[in-house]
Amino acid sequence: MAYAKEQLLDSIYLKNEIQVEGLSFDENIFQGAGISKTLGENVNALFTCDRHAHKEIEFPAIFYLPVGGYRVHIRWNNQSPFHLEREGDRFFIVKGKEVVVEDVSFAKRPGYYAKQTSDGADMRTIAQDYGYGNLFIVYSNECCLKDKGKDCLFCNINATKALYGEEQNIQWKNANQIGETVAECYKNKYSHLTVSGGFVPERREVDYYVDIAEAIQEHTGQESFNGTACVGAPNDLNSIDLYKEAGFSTIATNMEIWNSKLFEVICPGKSELCGGQKNWLETLKHEVEVFGKFKVRSTFVSGIEPKESLLEGMEILVSKGVIALPSQWYVNYGSALEGHRTPDPEWHWEVFERVHAIYQKYGVTWEQLRNATAEPDLVIHDLLRLSEGVDVNDFLE
Ligand code: SF4
Repeated sequence: MAYAKEQLLDSIYLKNEIQVEGLSFDENIFQGAGISKTLGENVNALFTCDRHAHKEIEFPAIFYLPVGGYRVHIRWNNQSPFHLEREGDRFFIVKGKEVVVEDVSFAKRPGYYAKQTSDGADMRTIAQDYGYGNLFIVYSNECCLKDKGKDCLFCNINATKALYGEEQNIQWKNANQIGETVAECYKNKYSHLTVSGGFVPERREVDYYVDIAEAIQEHTGQESFNGTACVGAPNDLNSIDLYKEAGFSTIATNMEIWNSKLFEVICPGKSELCGGQKNWLETLKHEVEVFGKFKVRSTFVSGIEPKESLLEGMEILVSKGVIALPSQWYVNYGSALEGHRTPDPEWHWEVFERVHAIYQKYGVTWEQLRNATAEPDLVIHDLLRLSEGVDVNDFLE
């Protein structure tokens, strides 16, 4: 069905609200609905975004809004004003007494989620489907900054592993498992991947990424596999060139926080072990020289620092060819900031609208944004697709 632009914008705004507030529901509501069978389950390979633990019950990962088909990530929060209800096979969302989503349809389970690699690992744990043909590969589901007491205060990677690692059988991945999984997916319309993970001891990231790139090339037969390497700022900038030589087409180095003093407090490990914020900026500059304009991304946790500071940093970076990405802060279970609150939906909406204007001012396109980001379905992606007139439907539906 064709919708007017205002209706689509309203739908994205509703998505923004539901993402910020989460969804409240009875934990048994999905019983018999086909989660992990016909409908795609949430695989907690990196950060769990649910406010409460649910070790033995699988939840669906994504639902689509009826107007525009926008993907919405399911984040369980029993304090949310948005309440998911069920009548028979029909799911719908109410807020107060008003039905705000008449018909919730969940994303189908990708075919490869039922497959295994030659050594018996579940492919769903190797690469997660993030929509619009994007795969997210988390080679390690732990971060060694935790042992040093210097992990980022918003992050719950190690808590997620402790909670779901064994339950969902999520382990470190080897290069061959990744190569086989990507080959299986790239036969089926997937066309972009991101490789990420927590900090590894002794910063041996480059070696892992080179091995992974070689395995992907061997199994897919593609020299160029449209991949983003997500890495920390290195002590030796020359190592950035090695990711490019290995075959990655884009690179991401996530600063998280722009204000330099807050960066030291919120990201102590990233600050102290990687040469301070100055080195993160030097790294991004070098990455643009090596990979090219808008082939470099830096994600910011939006909602921790003041809005004007965040937006100032984003505009400076975008003007220099870096895709600065606002990622809504959703306070994570098990993080040091658990119990805090993210700003309200209007705050986040203003950030997205202003970053959208920055992208338009400097010429960032949806395709560039999609090819530099792991999740191509954030509110900012939807806004850019809408303004470019790109068909919004997720290809799996
Ligand atoms: S570097 Fe920070 S954000 Fe990344 S995994 Fe470690 S603690 Fe989490």
